[in-house]
Amino acid sequence: MTASNLRVLIFGAHPDDPDGRSGGAAALYARAGHVVKMVSLTNGDAGHMWEGGAPLAWRRRIEAANSGKTLGCEYITLDSHDGMLMPSLEVRNEVISIVRNFKPDLVICPRMWDYHPDHRACGVVVVDAMYMATVPNVVSGAEHLRKMPVIAYCYDQFQKPYPVQPDVVIDISPVLDQKIDALACHVSQMYEWLPYNRSAMGEVPEGQAERRAWLKAWYGGRAAQQAIKFRAELVARYGEQRGQACVAAETYEGSEYGSPLTAENKDILFPF
Ligand SMILES: [Zn+2]
Repeated sequence: MTASNLRVLIFGAHPDDPDGRSGGAAALYARAGHVVKMVSLTNGDAGHMWEGGAPLAWRRRIEAANSGKTLGCEYITLDSHDGMLMPSLEVRNEVISIVRNFKPDLVICPRMWDYHPDHRACGVVVVDAMYMATVPNVVSGAEHLRKMPVIAYCYDQFQKPYPVQPDVVIDISPVLDQKIDALACHVSQMYEWLPYNRSAMGEVPEGQAERRAWLKAWYGGRAAQQAIKFRAELVARYGEQRGQACVAAETYEGSEYGSPLTAENKDILFPF
């Protein structure tokens, strides 16, 4: 593994989760020539107020693929039903096959604590799959992994049982607009379902440019919060000038269930 040929696999529960949380890192990896694949475990066929079922799943599959193109990576959507994801053997084995075929150096996934049952299930099933991916007698269709990849959790705001540990905080300011452009591909989420679900449909502007600016204020604000919260980590990583100037960040925590994220491999796996 060198810094020039990394393979990074990013899991999320819904089409908009992998890029919503890690779109900045994905864009930075892709720009540097590394290979990134994003995987949504559900097809997103439930979270909407006037659409549903297979037509919504297809719409979301296309939105995710377009987001992936915008970031420079492949973005696939599996077929578990939205709102019904379970850390079942079936889903675990599906994840094992994907991991084995992709052969990642780094796997990014959510933690196991979240308000949304699909997000929790995603965190559990990905970590469950990672160890089993090294066991030859489980899932015969793809050869087992010889080495456990590093697993990193993406950022969330939950404080219990413990807040995300900022093991790696990266400056995504140079790719923030690319991340927002990717998220703007999720029209059914960003401009329809998510505002509807938080009773904010009235806030969504009509015009294309106005919507894009509104989305940037929303997701850019989330990235800015991380930059403010983890300013000391950014300064330690990038030096005083860039660390203080950073306006958008993404935060990652090494998981104890993968190969250790160490001071040595941290800069190889997050080479920016
Ligand atoms: Zn989600």
